[in-house]
Amino acid sequence: MLQLTSITKSYNSKPLLDNISFTVAEGETVCLLGASGSGKSTLLRIIAGLESPDSGLISFGGVDLASTPPHLRDFGLVFQDYALFPHLNVNDNVAFGLKMRRMRQDEISQRVASSLELVNLKGFEQRSVNDLSGGEQQRVALARALAIRPRLLMFDEPLGALDRTLREGLLNGLRSILQKTKVPAIYVTHDQEEAFAIADRVMILHNGNIIRAGTPADVWANPQSAYVAEFLGLGNVIEGEVKGKIKSGEWKVESSVGEFVVMCKHKHSKGEKVHLLARPIAEQNNRWSSSSARAERTLSEGEVEDEASRDVSRPEGRIQNTVQSIVADVIFQQDKYKVTLDNGLYVYLKDAPKIGKKISVRVKIECLG
Ligand code: ADP
Ligand code: MG
Repeated sequence: MLQLTSITKSYNSKPLLDNISFTVAEGETVCLLGASGSGKSTLLRIIAGLESPDSGLISFGGVDLASTPPHLRDFGLVFQDYALFPHLNVNDNVAFGLKMRRMRQDEISQRVASSLELVNLKGFEQRSVNDLSGGEQQRVALARALAIRPRLLMFDEPLGALDRTLREGLLNGLRSILQKTKVPAIYVTHDQEEAFAIADRVMILHNGNIIRAGTPADVWANPQSAYVAEFLGLGNVIEGEVKGKIKSGEWKVESSVGEFVVMCKHKHSKGEKVHLLARPIAEQNNRWSSSSARAERTLSEGEVEDEASRDVSRPEGRIQNTVQSIVADVIFQQDKYKVTLDNGLYVYLKDAPKIGKKISVRVKIECLG
């Protein structure tokens, strides 16, 4: 369907987009995720034809769009600020693009009605858009984009101006509309939760490049870089230094919060700096209850006992890394507690430990390379 090949764009000789290539398949929703200023809106504007790339190719259905002006691309755009016409009522806002296309009045009425029905705004035709809530205004904007029966829908942070509960409701509505209409879509956001909820595929834009792309589950399981893990908030990203190889695929890595045994497929060398990911889902280590001699050894505040042990009690013989520290803060989060430790790590635990207590938790350490 949509294909971008080697798109580059610089502003004031500062490269913003550097050789971007990707495709969007029929019926697919692709989320473009990136920090503010990473060039997401610029990329959408280039696809829409509102901005031209310095180099590169954009095609749709195999046809090069270089000479197709924006209004003939049949792409629908939905922005954060709705961009509705304040002097027009709901009906005329939705009908606008159809009138521009000089469509017959009876067809316009029929399209407006079906678009408003899709976004659940039947009966709002004569309302002034100024009297609508933010969520309703955004649904009008979506109906306007849908009315032209776009070949592609593009969303630029469409829920950014709305509060959390409203966002969730709209996102669900949008997902079902995209499934129903099967219109391919590019959804731009800086919010990873939003992206993961709606995307068939996510792409992470950083330093002008798509540094990671995949299904939400794949990217979540294998962020592959410290930047992606940190940006997506997957857990604690820890800097470490490779101390040596234990055996094939198993390395000893030292960090400020302890020494870990790390399993990974990378080829490391001694002294190499690596990034580790400690996901917050941890287990409290009951082996070291207060009766254990090890736990009775008093650790001073902030001190962490370096520990890496192979838990032979587990049938799969997985490596269990352990972190010991003092509980600095505990926040209730529905079915778990977010526990921040004195060494800076945070973990989720089922039961709330006491602040100031020394605890030992087992964490799964992944190597980010
Ligand atoms: P995002 O949508 O990811 O926040 P943008 O695409 O809006 O990022 O902008 C990325 C950068 O490009 C910004 O730092 C902005 O200053 C710059 N930029 C965007 N458009 C222009 C322009 N027309 N002229 C100069 N600089 C621009
Ligand atoms: Mg933007």
